[in-house]
Amino acid sequence: MEIPENVQAVLKTLEAAGHEAWCVGGCVRDALLGQSPGDWDVTTSALPEETLAAFGSHGVPTGLKHGTVTVKTPRGPVEVTTFRIDGAYRDHRRPESVAFTRSLDEDLARRDFTVNAMARNLRGEFRDPFGGREDLHRGILRCVGDPDRRFQEDALRILRGLRFAAALDLEIEPGTAAALRRNREGLADVAAERIQTEFFKLLPGKHAAEVLRGYPEVFGVFWPELLPMVGFGQRNRHHCYDVWEHTLHALAAVPEDLVLRCTMLLHDVGKPDSFTVDEAGVGHFYGHPAVSRELADRMLRRLKCGTEFRETVVRLVEWHDKDIPRTDKSIRRALRILGERDLRRLILVKRADNFGQAPAYWDRQKELDKAEEILDRLLAEDACFSLKQLAVNGRDLLALGLSGPAVGAALEELLGKVVDGTLPNEREALLEYLRGA
Ligand code: ATP
Ligand code: MG
Repeated sequence: MEIPENVQAVLKTLEAAGHEAWCVGGCVRDALLGQSPGDWDVTTSALPEETLAAFGSHGVPTGLKHGTVTVKTPRGPVEVTTFRIDGAYRDHRRPESVAFTRSLDEDLARRDFTVNAMARNLRGEFRDPFGGREDLHRGILRCVGDPDRRFQEDALRILRGLRFAAALDLEIEPGTAAALRRNREGLADVAAERIQTEFFKLLPGKHAAEVLRGYPEVFGVFWPELLPMVGFGQRNRHHCYDVWEHTLHALAAVPEDLVLRCTMLLHDVGKPDSFTVDEAGVGHFYGHPAVSRELADRMLRRLKCGTEFRETVVRLVEWHDKDIPRTDKSIRRALRILGERDLRRLILVKRADNFGQAPAYWDRQKELDKAEEILDRLLAEDACFSLKQLAVNGRDLLALGLSGPAVGAALEELLGKVVDGTLPNEREALLEYLRGA
């Protein structure tokens, strides 16, 4: 295990001051998996004030109550937390109090899963009192201690467990899995922001679809809107799956990206509410994208998602079923509204939606290939689809005598005509049009 130099320096400083210092948790786990850890956490026998004393002006008391000091290093901050024992838990959330200890093993015992309860120090000594390495090797996720108690203490661990299963391809040990289901209602007491953080690390996971399939009732605690999809028959020859299975197949068919995964999870959430059956007994979901859009917006707000993220997902949900004719004009129109990034995303969404349908209808992929070819060509030709590409700007229009909101309106009108191909994107032609208008 290669410990980065700046983290090594932190460990050395603590040891030089006479304390124990270990890399712990996610970084040890990820390194054993051969993955490069996102962050390196350090745990130490030093009390917070001792840590602060050891680092002088480089130590920042970011979470003293929980024993955390952030050490500024040339390669970014490193969190140093004193060995601690968590006191009694309140409301399935936070410990009432924490007590510091000089025992690493006591600190490891408070951690959630065996694979997260391993530590390693500068000399390569390895501490693993709960068999985390063996579990990791066998691909098993298991609570440290009694799973019911651990999930009752902090219900967020339920979602963390599912997150590790999805991202690291771990199988949840049966006792842990049963406890996770039994205690799911505790998630109702967990802050939306904490749920969002874990859930959004779960969705891009390689095995997110399997985990969603295995535990819908857990996700239903914070997103009950998902539950009517489960087992909802579509009664339509385009579909070989119920709405939930279709959703999961579509989700698995997009790249491991949060916006795309979230869009696929929500794209048909409005279907159960939009269902009708015609005289021939065929099922339809007229207007479901608009219903999905409304539900998705509400669900994302509930999780306190950022505005830009929410608006992007909601728009892709709204557009997922729109037909975009394979013509230069309609691709330019879509580009104008969505921009390149989201139009490319939309094509991926449509591909995945189609792959979630009955295989007899997969030839729609060819239409999407065509749309993509046109898009690539238009971009290579530097086709105009935004105001900043337009051959005239606001100043030109002011010079023509326009003012105030009329300037913006005129620019939009010109852009519309250029996008539709009724005017060329040439300065003189555009100005001429305005003079005549
Ligand atoms: P990653 O950083 O890759 O998202 P991680 O396991 O490092 O995953 P962090 O949130 O960084 O997750 O937490 C660091 C360590 O702290 C964990 O590995 C675990 O040992 C412990 N931990 C974090 N959250 C909890 C919790 N809710 N209950 C018990 N232990 C926890
Ligand atoms: Mg971490």
